[in-house]
Amino acid sequence: MFNTAWNLTGHETKLKSYAKLGEFQKRYYNIGVKKTEDSAKLSVPKEVAEVARTLENKGFQAYLIGGCVRDLLVGRRPKDWDITTNAKPEEIVASFPNTFYENDYGTVGVVTENTDDETLKVIEVTPYRLEGNYSDKRRPDSVTWGAKLEDDLKRRDFTINAIALKLPGDIVDIFSGQIDIKKKTIQTVGDPESRFSEDALRMLRAVRIAVELDFTIDSTTGDAIALNAKHIKEMAAERIRDEFIRIIMSPRPHIGLILSQKLGLLKYIAPELEEGIGVAQNKAHSFDVFEHMLRTIEHAAKKEFPLETRLSALLHDIGKPATRRWSEEKKDWTFYGHDVVGAKIAAKIMARLAFPRKMTDIVTTLVRWHMFFSDTEQITHSAVRRIVNRVGKEHVWNLMDVRACDRIGTGRPKESPYRLRKYHSMIDEVMRDPLSVGMLKINGGRILELTKTAPGPKIGHILHALLEEVLDDPAKNTADYLEKMALELYALPEKELEKRGKSAKESKEKEEEKTLQAIRKRHWVS
Ligand code: ATP
Ligand code: MG
Repeated sequence: MFNTAWNLTGHETKLKSYAKLGEFQKRYYNIGVKKTEDSAKLSVPKEVAEVARTLENKGFQAYLIGGCVRDLLVGRRPKDWDITTNAKPEEIVASFPNTFYENDYGTVGVVTENTDDETLKVIEVTPYRLEGNYSDKRRPDSVTWGAKLEDDLKRRDFTINAIALKLPGDIVDIFSGQIDIKKKTIQTVGDPESRFSEDALRMLRAVRIAVELDFTIDSTTGDAIALNAKHIKEMAAERIRDEFIRIIMSPRPHIGLILSQKLGLLKYIAPELEEGIGVAQNKAHSFDVFEHMLRTIEHAAKKEFPLETRLSALLHDIGKPATRRWSEEKKDWTFYGHDVVGAKIAAKIMARLAFPRKMTDIVTTLVRWHMFFSDTEQITHSAVRRIVNRVGKEHVWNLMDVRACDRIGTGRPKESPYRLRKYHSMIDEVMRDPLSVGMLKINGGRILELTKTAPGPKIGHILHALLEEVLDDPAKNTADYLEKMALELYALPEKELEKRGKSAKESKEKEEEKTLQAIRKRHWVS
């Protein structure tokens, strides 16, 4: 019976070592029936009830609908409040002092004020809707209002999202969503195949809602996803991204990723992750690359780390499949340069998913430098200054967190508390040191004055060469020393100067990059 449900069972055919994780699987079998709260006990904010009452006083019907009713029944705090009504958009607008149109589907945002804490809240009020055909798998060709409540419930994605609640406590549940809530099951309203071919994003919503609520996907619905998975690529990247983020931010992102993989969605969203399946690592690791990345993000979720840390945890070893080489000397696999390649692949995945540039930069930087805190020999004060200079003061703690998740994801114990404390205090110590060109006791203008030259690339090289000195020894950050040094540097030939402006580490990277170019080409990473 378990094998037909779309949960972790059966996944061992793809993921070898997960097969060993009987205990792990058990945790995510949700066959138990969780006691749901009595609807009488459900608490609906005053202003939400007020919006419903206002509509009813005008002679319209008004029902709470969708995620908020589902969450109330599950015993979770709803994220937002949706009301559905037989009033037409203009009639909704006319019923409230402060409203705005939210989208093309007739949804009206009603702005309400909570008199207790004076916060403003938008309640979405949508007319009952009847949808025409979906010829593009995304949007209905036409939307009609003035329909009945049942029509509106019929167009909703899952039974658990199609329960209407008329305050104070009358429930309309024509698709038995409450039974599915009890069974902790997600299934479509109506035939799953046709519902997914109307709107392919629903397939990813199923996974997202499953991991958010700790539900499983019903077998018929799951089979239909498996059959239609390829249509997910027809969805706008932004819509996929938003669901993907919610999977990542859920309490169990690793389950969401396994489920997506198993259902065939992942290969259209982030095929690079799948490349880690079955890729064995060196002797220090017990898991393949895919499972290691999942265990790493599992820990990041357990610690409730923010999105950038979770994404970095997930993607930190994404460069491993492409860089794996057998070393005869070590009699083991090596992954030389996987951090450099991984950063590029991470950037590519995130660009494809239309992540904002800033988030992508943070994550790629964290992936690029994720090895830093693992090389204990390397961790000197000047090295810590350099890493802070690279990842930025505001992200160096994220880097420590990614490192902690990486260890746990490898199956190794936590870093020793002694060593952790030492790293922490080293970071604290260097935070006060000059870590960027802007913090030097000299600037470009002063160098121009001293050297009596016109602005040009040489000035930048001089500043960077000076920063290198100060990163090694912060005591050198005095105007006197830097001015004297600037003049000496100015006398050097430009080539030599340029070299001095780059740390030894960075020139090594250049070399690394060259040797890795071939690999990257092969894996379509530019
Ligand atoms: P949450 O608010 O926690 O994100 P939700 O279920 O409320 O969850 P919304 O995106 O707010 O999700 O959608 C509100 C409701 O609209 C859903 O509960 C569902 O009834 C309906 N809905 C949303 N997206 C779709 C869709 N793609 N197809 C059909 N119905 C949908
Ligand atoms: Mg909602």
